[in-house]
Amino acid sequence: MKNILGANDEVAALNRQMFAERGVIVMNLLGSPGSGKTTLLEKTLARLADKIKIAVIEGDLFTAKDAERIERAGVDVIQINTAGGCHLDAPMIQKACAALNLAELDLLIVENVGNLVCPAEFDIGENFKATVLSITEGDDKPLKYPLIFKESAAVVLNKIDLLEFTNFDLKSAREDLTTLNPPIKIFETSCTRGTGLDDWTAWLLSKVAK
Ligand code: MG
Ligand code: ZN
Repeated sequence: MKNILGANDEVAALNRQMFAERGVIVMNLLGSPGSGKTTLLEKTLARLADKIKIAVIEGDLFTAKDAERIERAGVDVIQINTAGGCHLDAPMIQKACAALNLAELDLLIVENVGNLVCPAEFDIGENFKATVLSITEGDDKPLKYPLIFKESAAVVLNKIDLLEFTNFDLKSAREDLTTLNPPIKIFETSCTRGTGLDDWTAWLLSKVAK
């Protein structure tokens, strides 16, 4: 495992240098299957695509379902099928970027494979990670999967409209997240209802402006 991560980190460093030279900010978007990553992306693109130039890399085990949804939002999208692999790694991103004109982009968003474990372990050369955690997954997830929340600059608590139907304790989830990662930004959204997205997109724009 150490050797695999070492080889990955070498390519991640090359990716990071390439992104810096081309002036593009890269977000690695993480979260469980069904947490709402693709829906968050659709809503984000609808709000930002006329303000900044965005492209998306979609990681998926076998299908192009998410990439087709992103394509309908009118931005360039590159599909990576991992053939069952449970995360994206730096060489996959390096290869996918050959098909993109990075210099013309402001923001490149990578939707990683749905998984709370190893996508957090593989640096792809991104500027920052963000994790989508839906209310229906349970408030225990930050403490059960601490690495992904320690590594993330932001967490999007999605499906907040379902809060009253669950036993999700918002206060304790927020406390756990802040204990694990004091500077973490926490957003509360319902991507299907379109609520809470203004703060999220304003934060994302501020990351690109830097
Ligand atoms: Mg998805
Ligand atoms: Zn994996």
